[in-house]
Amino acid sequence: MSTILIKNARVLGGDPSDILIKDGVIAEIGATVAKAGKAETIDATGLIALPGLVDLHTHLREPGREDAETVETGTQAAARGGYTAVHAMANTSPVADTAGVVEQVWRLGQEYGYCDVQPVGAVTSGLEGRQLAELGAMADSAARVRVFSDDGKCVSDAVLMRRALEYVKAFDGVVAQHAQEPRLTEGAQVNEGEVSGRLGLTGWPAVAEEAIIARDCLLAAHVGSRLHVCHVSTAGSVEIIRWAKSKGWDVTAEVTPHHLLLTDSCVERSPAGPYNPIYKVNPPLRTNEDVQALREALADGTIDCVATDHAPHPVEDKETEWAAAAMGMIGLETALSVVQEAMVETGLLDWAGIADRMSYRPARIGRLSGHGSPLEAGATANITLYDPSVRTAVDPAAMVSKSRNTPYEGLTLPGRVVATLLRGRPTVLEGKLV
Ligand SMILES: [Zn+2]
Repeated sequence: MSTILIKNARVLGGDPSDILIKDGVIAEIGATVAKAGKAETIDATGLIALPGLVDLHTHLREPGREDAETVETGTQAAARGGYTAVHAMANTSPVADTAGVVEQVWRLGQEYGYCDVQPVGAVTSGLEGRQLAELGAMADSAARVRVFSDDGKCVSDAVLMRRALEYVKAFDGVVAQHAQEPRLTEGAQVNEGEVSGRLGLTGWPAVAEEAIIARDCLLAAHVGSRLHVCHVSTAGSVEIIRWAKSKGWDVTAEVTPHHLLLTDSCVERSPAGPYNPIYKVNPPLRTNEDVQALREALADGTIDCVATDHAPHPVEDKETEWAAAAMGMIGLETALSVVQEAMVETGLLDWAGIADRMSYRPARIGRLSGHGSPLEAGATANITLYDPSVRTAVDPAAMVSKSRNTPYEGLTLPGRVVATLLRGRPTVLEGKLV
């Protein structure tokens, strides 16, 4: 097959090394690697080499909302962001709650994907929270589902959540909970606090998230199963997860880039004026104290990984009045830059830490083989080459996602993904899709 030689890449930010890739596998890595035969060469001088990023939480919208995103455009955005694998959330139309639908998504990924697409299966049929979906059939399907989530909705019924946790043990699965107590968040619009008070919007209390996380940690421990907490957004949630981990319980958690950078003050003081729905997201943007706690928790490993919660919406669903606007923001193409700004520029994580939180750990939580391996001889050549030294203003028009609902428009962020390689095949070169 093919041979590629990457020259002078700083692996995890270390000294420059050459990486020789043969037939999709890293054949050799060292200070200087001789060019073997007619290898294609990528000059990576000044670039950092990271293992291909893995997202545990992506909304690809296909099937059903191809006007917002498709498997093809969503994975193009992922590749541009340095990702080689994404977990596709189940809240599609139809819902990914049967072997048939998860296999459909998996096949679309095989056919059109610029990265690997690992379908997430719904926990309950139709995300309705009434009866368990076909968890075993989805696990046994060609898609080999290991992550189950009703994301967008909370599995609020404690008995159903317990049964799901018990069920997934049979195939080493994990239940990824969207922690939102429904009654406490009826009509909720923005984080409950000073900002919601001043804006006159219904508050979304931190306790609505924290109560579910505490309950689910206890349930997971009670039945000896694996729980993953989606998009942790409050300082109190961090404390509960820290406590559950101290008990030795099998609980993992993710945080989104936007919850590491933005606060509810954006809703009040956006450049375009208050009530800008670009900042409407579930869970809501919280306070500066929450952001600081989330950053520290990601740094000390209490929060295991960054997950984008990439949530594309067409213009008509976002550019409307606050109360009517859809919740969510896109994030695949900006994730690494936002995390660099929040975690690397602040000295909280180095590049080895970024590899751990954005590749190794999410792959391990999702039980995803072929991804999340250290860059060493014998490993699959899933590689991201990143230039951390540039700073550019975010331009939504330059994005490849089918939707443009980014909250970072005009914001100057560090870094640029220069190349992404999926099993040794470039999906992005010089910042452009291949
Ligand atoms: Zn969610």
